[in-house]
Amino acid sequence: MSKYQSNRLNSLTLILNASYLPLGVCSSKRAICLYFLDKVDILMNYDERIHSPSLQMKIPSVIKLKKYVSFNSLDIVLNRKNLLMRDNSCCQYCGSKSSLTIDHIVPKQKGGQDTWENLIIACSPCNSKKGNRTPYEAEMKLMKIPKKPNRFMYYNQYISQRNEGWKDYLFQNKN
Ligand SMILES: [Zn+2]
Repeated sequence: MSKYQSNRLNSLTLILNASYLPLGVCSSKRAICLYFLDKVDILMNYDERIHSPSLQMKIPSVIKLKKYVSFNSLDIVLNRKNLLMRDNSCCQYCGSKSSLTIDHIVPKQKGGQDTWENLIIACSPCNSKKGNRTPYEAEMKLMKIPKKPNRFMYYNQYISQRNEGWKDYLFQNKN
């Protein structure tokens, strides 16, 4: 397979449950495998095709599982990558986009937990300035109140002009 083709296979495909609720995002390569395993129906394609001696098909953009799977797709994992996404990769005290760290709003030593509401992205200078204090004690103001991101935010990061068609399958209920 040419390099160009393998790039195309790095396209992203939206996976829907049999109930049409979004389940997640996978590589188009995986989507094509699922299709040939007869696990999914293809609902929407990109304009580009992949070619091989034995196969020529459009790259799937949206697929739907044939069998319903029970899976809580609403839960977004609390990790650094998703915190960066939620906080737009900028310090929540000063807006800086460099030397980013994770700050506990209420410090761990004062009982602060690892939760969406207590963790934010902060640059290293702000993090050290705040030290072991709450923002109130340190007189540092947060740019916004941190909350658990919703599915809208999760899928929105993948939406581009190329896969605008996904919007038809997402965001019907923004929870
Ligand atoms: Zn900062």
